[in-house]
Amino acid sequence: MRLWFCLALALQVLALLASPLQAAERLNVVASFSIISDFVRAIGGERVNLTTLVGPNSDVHVYAPTPSDAKTIAAAQVLIVNGLGLEGWLPRLVQSSGSKAPIVTATTGIATLKSGSDSDPHAWQSVANAKLYVTNIRDALASADPADAEFFRDRAGRYLADLDALDREVREAIEKIPPERRKVISTHDAFGYFAAAYGIAFIAPLGVSTESEPSARDIAKIIGQVRAARIPAVFLENISDDRLVGRIAAETGAVIGGTLFSDSLTTEKGDAPTYIAMVRHNIKALTSALDH
Ligand code: ZN
Repeated sequence: MRLWFCLALALQVLALLASPLQAAERLNVVASFSIISDFVRAIGGERVNLTTLVGPNSDVHVYAPTPSDAKTIAAAQVLIVNGLGLEGWLPRLVQSSGSKAPIVTATTGIATLKSGSDSDPHAWQSVANAKLYVTNIRDALASADPADAEFFRDRAGRYLADLDALDREVREAIEKIPPERRKVISTHDAFGYFAAAYGIAFIAPLGVSTESEPSARDIAKIIGQVRAARIPAVFLENISDDRLVGRIAAETGAVIGGTLFSDSLTTEKGDAPTYIAMVRHNIKALTSALDH
């Protein structure tokens, strides 16, 4: 008992001695949500001190910032966001924090898709776009912390190669699905970029944001579409209400193909703790529901 206590105390003293030094050397980066955060971690590694505003399994569309978020942003040296209207709550938060940190929009340079009159913010769902996020974040970290630029470029280079391999994996998996079965229902319209890049059609009862509720007429229309187009499977999401998609499945006889991860990663213990794990999980869910 006593030995353990002494040991614990010694470790605590060591941690106290070590942490202020380390923290001073590391770049303070704030990411708006879990997917951007994973890209920052992949590039910045232990050279960044990373804070995520909207964490795992949370909905970035409808986030309500807390007073501690304003403090986090005030201390940031770089703030990295998705843009394209995803973080509607952010401008007010930044203003109230008084932060002077540069705001880096990770989707800069991406060919934006439209959904009605809105920009579709879910650009990360195409792996080719994810590579642009990574190069934007790499350049932002390098210019905020030139001493570590080489380190960031090195890690980004390896991660970009992993993303190239991932993109091939997705294409090969979809090749195996019969073309007439490449269509599904998801909860909200988060897979437009995935659909455009890989050729699977998605129909969603909710629009590009989870903020709006579908009308009875919208739902009736989707049920009609599922029946007419013989859509084989419907998917749930980790951030949205499952009841609606469950009802569509019950009324049409479509199979529930499992959960797709759209706007948020999971915790370490979940099926999608990283971006690469998320894409792999989604591909596996899609192919096992459609590939027969
Ligand atoms: Zn979304």
